[in-house]
Amino acid sequence: MKSLPYFCRGEVIRGFGRGSKELGIPTANLPDSVVDHLPADISTGIYYGWACVGDGDVYKMVMSIGWNPFYKNIKKSMEAHLIHTFKEDFYGGILSFVVVGYIRPETSFNSLEALIMAITNDIEEAKVKLELPEHLKLREDNFFTSAPSTSSTMPPTSSSMSQTILNGH
Ligand code: ADP
Ligand code: MG
Repeated sequence: MKSLPYFCRGEVIRGFGRGSKELGIPTANLPDSVVDHLPADISTGIYYGWACVGDGDVYKMVMSIGWNPFYKNIKKSMEAHLIHTFKEDFYGGILSFVVVGYIRPETSFNSLEALIMAITNDIEEAKVKLELPEHLKLREDNFFTSAPSTSSTMPPTSSSMSQTILNGH
């Protein structure tokens, strides 16, 4: 995929509350403004990369780019699970991320166990792949050092940053 690595920022919005947090795998959902700017060659599937909230530390992440059931599966959705345990939720915060590489296509699973197993494998693969020198250096990119500081307590509507899409900086 020629658009990778793909750098982007967007506000963390509420998702469907489909219980990913209950599974121990919360996913920070991104708004349509971000999804709509996704390059066409970035297909649906599971990806790995780096992400930070506001001007916080940069963590490894897995990202799902999928078909959004809310829009009858004609629109894509983007959700990031950061590989870190946060003390608090960060709805309304600005997520800065870089999508680095592809893991696997989207699939449906027959059981919750199979789903959790697949996500656990995705997380392990992300952890290993991101240790490659060419991927580690993306973590140090100016894109992250210049990330805007935001507070997770800020109301989502007050943030004009939700419209800010940065790529090819
Ligand atoms: P929703 O359906 O609203 O997205 P989730 O169950 O997916 O609900 O939980 C997502 C929220 O959990 C995120 O928006 C964020 O505020 C919080 N969160 C806490 N820890 C993480 C993490 N490690 N990765 C992603 N989101 C996290
Ligand atoms: Mg979510």
